[in-house]
Amino acid sequence: MKAGFDTLIRNATVVTPQSVAPLDIAITNGRIAALLAPGTPAMARDIIDARGLHVLSGAIDIHCHVRAPAFPERGTVESETRAAAAGGITTLFEMPISKPCCNTAERVILRRDHFAASALVDFALYAAPADLSPHAIEASVNAGIVAFKIFTTAAPAGREDEFAGLAIPDEGQQLATLQALAKTGLPVVVHAESEPLLRYFQARGRGLNPSLATTHNALRPPVCEAVAVAKLLTLNMEAGAKLHIAHVTSALTVEVLRRFKGTSDFSAETCPHYLIRTVSDIQAAGVFGKINPPVRDHADQEALWSALADGTITHVTTDHASFAHAEKQAHLGDFPNAPPGAPGLEILVPSMLDAVAKGRIDLKRMTELLSGNAACRFNIPDKGSIRLGADADLMLVDLSARTQIEASRLFTHARDVAHLYDGAEFQGRIDRTILRGMTVYRAGEITGAAGRGRYIEPTPVSPARAVA
Ligand SMILES: [Zn+2]
Repeated sequence: MKAGFDTLIRNATVVTPQSVAPLDIAITNGRIAALLAPGTPAMARDIIDARGLHVLSGAIDIHCHVRAPAFPERGTVESETRAAAAGGITTLFEMPISKPCCNTAERVILRRDHFAASALVDFALYAAPADLSPHAIEASVNAGIVAFKIFTTAAPAGREDEFAGLAIPDEGQQLATLQALAKTGLPVVVHAESEPLLRYFQARGRGLNPSLATTHNALRPPVCEAVAVAKLLTLNMEAGAKLHIAHVTSALTVEVLRRFKGTSDFSAETCPHYLIRTVSDIQAAGVFGKINPPVRDHADQEALWSALADGTITHVTTDHASFAHAEKQAHLGDFPNAPPGAPGLEILVPSMLDAVAKGRIDLKRMTELLSGNAACRFNIPDKGSIRLGADADLMLVDLSARTQIEASRLFTHARDVAHLYDGAEFQGRIDRTILRGMTVYRAGEITGAAGRGRYIEPTPVSPARAVA
């Protein structure tokens, strides 16, 4: 008789890297202490009866914009990590866009402490590589950042301080940045759209009706993304960085990724809005559904699903980016000038459970896309899968129940701009989210405490090897 576990989850079907099978999960000190044959006699302080439920590794959202400590009117660490907990996300990676931009080790540390004070889930931080001096890069790495982020676009007008050190439209600078960051061994995540092509299409698109979502697409068509990605992948054959392409939207970019396969160390992600929404859904949501790069067409969706199936794209992320209602409202009917971004923390997991129900992906692939691949690519080995010794970051899901998205009942502070999924229905529902053994969400209620989320630092790795 095994004695003394903290928690025992009984009667569940458990999704591990090896199998989807009935197992009992024993948790002690926040870690998975044993995976037992169902019904194995064991003692624990708490028993969770998970009959009828599946247990999956908690999601790791590698692309999130809380923006704190800036812009509390858009949401706070507490409000948005509550949303994460409700959405089955046990670790989120916060992007560096803030005011000021998170582009020095000192700012990383201030942000780390700000997040640690009120996060309900674990978190990691990106930095922008403002200063490419070895000293500045080393200081950011030593501050425990999980990766670097850059844009190939210019800073949006009026938001220069939010993008300082982040916006690198010049190709020479992109190459220098990839070369400098390759030495760290950390991933370099890139928002890839070609600045010269954006300018070209902007000039050509003058006179288009600004109230149409198709105009937003005409100003930023797939070729802008695909060209930027092709150039980055070419630069990376020279630089040898550990490159990651953020939010792939289009069939054209999927084709580019396939053609460059094997030429350097790169990976790519997409998001639910590119997988299950089209430009007509964006039109229905108005500027509340405006996201950069734009949501495309049905044919692009199909290409993205096939890229998930064949491993061309290995991550699905939220790109959660909330705005205050007044900020979107000020640009009603004006797609070119409305701020880009929409809330997604409570959509990611239900939308992927729905994809499982529809036979698009299976449960194993879903956990790879939402957690396993992230833990591996970003070197956070305690996370990402259900196995002995790993952090007990779990979601208990009911595949037979449905999730009804009602914007007004979301936990995100940005619920009043969450028009894109208002009224959506997904097959599958999150019953419970567990962070390092603690239940942080259960059946519609947040049970986690602010400040229990921990700063997650990657395990140091040797630099990526130049392929060329
Ligand atoms: Zn983003």
